Amino acid sequence: MKNQNFYCSKCQQNVRGNEYYHQGGICNKCRSRISKEKVDNYTGIQLAEYLLHKSCIRALERVKRKWYKTYQGVKCQWKKPVEMKKDLMNNKLFWEAWIKQSNVYENNERKLSIRPSLDRIESNVGNEGHYYMENMQVLSFGDNSIKASAIKCKVFFIKNMRIVRVTDFDAIQDVMKEFKVIGYNTKQINRDTGEIQYIGDGYSVLIQSIDGELNQKDNDKPRYRGVYQRQKFMVDLDTGEEFLIGVWQDIFESDGIWFNESQVSKP
Ligand SMILES: [Zn+2]
Repeated sequence: MKNQNFYCSKCQQNVRGNEYYHQGGICNKCRSRISKEKVDNYTGIQLAEYLLHKSCIRALERVKRKWYKTYQGVKCQWKKPVEMKKDLMNNKLFWEAWIKQSNVYENNERKLSIRPSLDRIESNVGNEGHYYMENMQVLSFGDNSIKASAIKCKVFFIKNMRIVRVTDFDAIQDVMKEFKVIGYNTKQINRDTGEIQYIGDGYSVLIQSIDGELNQKDNDKPRYRGVYQRQKFMVDLDTGEEFLIGVWQDIFESDGIWFNESQVSKP
């Protein structure tokens, strides 16, 4: 007999050898259906870990197979997907961002466009655009380019409660790289909420769109308290000596922070 048939214990049909999963004693169709059903039941952390593992497998495949033109010269610091996954899970900021995106995916019909994916922050091989830990971040599958969003925004980088840099949104990745902030998905940072959001390594950001305005939320409690301090001095015109004769504070409460051009001097 040229084509020997194999019996699938699941669908109880006979299939040819190349359609049969010999180790499991079932046909390939049943095998992939069962594995899909299994994945559909994954939720929470289990789903996040599964998705990350898959992504690591694919990343290593892309690097190993030489025929992907866009991946020529791209290196990967890991040899095995399991090791890559483990290290990424141990990177607290990366793993938190991954779980967050995985939850979004889980709660929105598991659409491919919002599946978390591995992104090389710098994708140009000439500029060290490799799969190295410091060059990895989480992006939703549909957003493989931050620039694609094309919303003109200003990003205020804050450290130790002071603004240390003001940059355009296009350049946010460059600044994060310079500050060595890794593994944070800037897509998940809200803009125009007036909220200072922590991105790791001591840095926080506030993002507001140009010509935008503060989106006030209906919170029960205000989030910030603004304090203006005014001081009154008398200056001796002969000696230049200053005498402090009064301090006043004006306090206001606010849901969010909004900078006008005049309030920010570029460091
Ligand atoms: Zn079958």
